[in-house]
Amino acid sequence: PPPAIEVRDLRRVFRVRQGLFAPPREVVAVDGVSFRVPAGGVLGVVGESGCGKSTLARLILGLLEPTAGEVLVEGRRLATMDRRARARLIQPVFQDPFASLNPRRRVRDIVAMPLVAQGDVPREEIARRVAEMLERVGLSREQGERFPAQLSGGQRQRVAIARALVLRPRVVVCDEPTSALDVSVQAQILNLLAELRRDLGLTYLFISHNLAVVEHVATEVAVMYLGRIVERAEAEALFAAPRHPYTRALLASVLTPEPGLGVPDVGLGDALPDPANIPPGCRFHPRCPLAFARCPVEAPRPVPTATGIVECHLEDAAAAARPAAA
Ligand code: SF4
Ligand code: MG
Repeated sequence: PPPAIEVRDLRRVFRVRQGLFAPPREVVAVDGVSFRVPAGGVLGVVGESGCGKSTLARLILGLLEPTAGEVLVEGRRLATMDRRARARLIQPVFQDPFASLNPRRRVRDIVAMPLVAQGDVPREEIARRVAEMLERVGLSREQGERFPAQLSGGQRQRVAIARALVLRPRVVVCDEPTSALDVSVQAQILNLLAELRRDLGLTYLFISHNLAVVEHVATEVAVMYLGRIVERAEAEALFAAPRHPYTRALLASVLTPEPGLGVPDVGLGDALPDPANIPPGCRFHPRCPLAFARCPVEAPRPVPTATGIVECHLEDAAAAARPAAA
């Protein structure tokens, strides 16, 4: 069978203007990203804020047009599908459930929306599927009658999950789905997502800045840095033996007194460089403790590893022994 998600050389450029008279600048938010996620897998995407994770999510959801490249879901090109067909295949769960839920609608109507938007689902079936989905995510019939403001943060995220799953999609893109929640509630939502994946045979793209969360849920991990995936590996391999210097710095940063809180920067020194001004050569070189002569002048290519890729000149030992390209 085709992979649940396949991304081919995806690229997205934004033009941003920082003042009325400033010339527009190009920000390459996603810069040649390729990967496949097998059915039933969970690809965790990690990186500091501003590294392109959310842009990648929106491209995969079809909420943004790629500048180049393409996204396939179960072998079908997203670009050729209409909105309703796409909605039956792939759905989002975003960070802030409050912002994504209409405050004037009751929970049951919010969950029903994707079914209503299909245009051809009978009312009785909508009612039946909404009731079933509310139960699956752990919400009572009575909670289904409430408005979002009458629910807790965790309950609201359950509503967002029910809405995402009511069409029985194949793929769910979760962008920081627990980052706005208290730690105890986070675990409940992560467990619910894991249970739903198992029961419904779902595939997840799971975006988070929180490595502890990703370690908990992912089967594979992709590490993003300034728009590129610099390392991808099976989750166990990545956490046991990170290879890219950026991955190692990210993992080291989790060992600080407040694990997983905020943007990790311990061991990374300076703040994230400007995505409108990507460093030449290896984009990580200004912050890399292992940078050498070749790094600022030549961009590393992805080198295959046992379970993924690493994009660093050190992986290419023979090449690293050569003098830097002029
Ligand atoms: Fe560091 Fe060079 Fe590897 Fe980039 S290519 S991560 S600068 S050693
Ligand atoms: Mg984001």
